[in-house]
Amino acid sequence: MDQTICLFLCFKTESPRDLQLALDYWSGSEEAGKWKWNVSVEEVASLHDVKKGDVPKIARGTADAVDLLRRCVECGCPRVFSSRSSLALRVYGEYRCPNCLEGRRLALLERQEKEERGRSARERDHIAELAMRNHIYRYDEISYSDAIISFGIMLASDEACELGTFHDSEGLHLCPRAGLSSKLLARLFNNGILRMSSTTPIQAVVLAEDGTWSYYPHRVSWRFADDADGRSFPKIMSLLGEMLDAREDDPGYYEAVDELWWKLGYDDALQYLEQEVDNYRLPDVQVGPKTEGAIRHALENFSIPQCRREITNVVKNAAALSQHRDFARRHALNTIPGNLINYVDRAISEGWQISPLLRNWQNEEPVLTTVLFNRVLGTGLPGFKTFSGKFLSTMSQI
Ligand SMILES: [Zn+2]
Repeated sequence: MDQTICLFLCFKTESPRDLQLALDYWSGSEEAGKWKWNVSVEEVASLHDVKKGDVPKIARGTADAVDLLRRCVECGCPRVFSSRSSLALRVYGEYRCPNCLEGRRLALLERQEKEERGRSARERDHIAELAMRNHIYRYDEISYSDAIISFGIMLASDEACELGTFHDSEGLHLCPRAGLSSKLLARLFNNGILRMSSTTPIQAVVLAEDGTWSYYPHRVSWRFADDADGRSFPKIMSLLGEMLDAREDDPGYYEAVDELWWKLGYDDALQYLEQEVDNYRLPDVQVGPKTEGAIRHALENFSIPQCRREITNVVKNAAALSQHRDFARRHALNTIPGNLINYVDRAISEGWQISPLLRNWQNEEPVLTTVLFNRVLGTGLPGFKTFSGKFLSTMSQI
């Protein structure tokens, strides 16, 4: 529905030419509920010998055009029009003038900032409280698998080895993907080995309204707990290294090797799968039980870098398939798990030599992968190229 307008001019200058221009510019009336202008802007321009583009500016400078029927609900000042086109803008509901709108916006901002400050203070307090946990740890009683992870962190970060602290934990490249390293960091925190430093940024911790909390392990400023026997951090690292070297003499050895190999292998395979799918611009991978089962089947029978090769080949075939007409890209993606299982089975039955897909062993493989093979298994790269899940399980039965 059209709105009735009662246009009123409030002059701001006394120049007769400009007064007449403003009057001509704003003169109009309502006809059958529609506003009609008496003179077009072109005509106003030629009548007063000014450029067409300057007309609204001169009119604005000469008079405030207001609608006496629409007033700001807060301050009562009438609605001001800046040009003819603003007259066409409908106001729905209550009208607020630009000044009052700005005031509201500032008040809202201030309220949000105040809430934010309150929230930050609560999170700060919470971090300070968390930083009180895990002050001291008995490193000589650490489990074999926690020793591997802790040793890997100290190997990757000089700061962690010298001072016990580390910040950019994602940049340490402990695991193929950030999700797994987050989980391992959380495990060391839960087991009392890592502490949150009080300098942890508040963005690392999320406090829910109901008092529960969660955190982003990669955003935390971490610190190793102090040793109960007073060892310095470099001494703690030597102790961890000696423990790793005990290998099968440690009762937790085989279980730790098995767990870490599978975790790293699965994570590595997923990373390869995502990377290859992305290379061929197929839609995002959604990892369901079928994909998980296919990857586990491949790892059971082949080494981690051989699985990379198998995944690469299978994704390449899916990408070729997706080029066919009538073959949806999503469908091509769905063929990957089944084809990976078939590929692995054929490779076994026909005795294919699957050549491992390798990166630079020293600089490009994840830290925990190299620690596992170099230090824990003692095989280095050759073991990485050949050890499969099946092989690992026979190892522990010797
Ligand atoms: Zn107002």
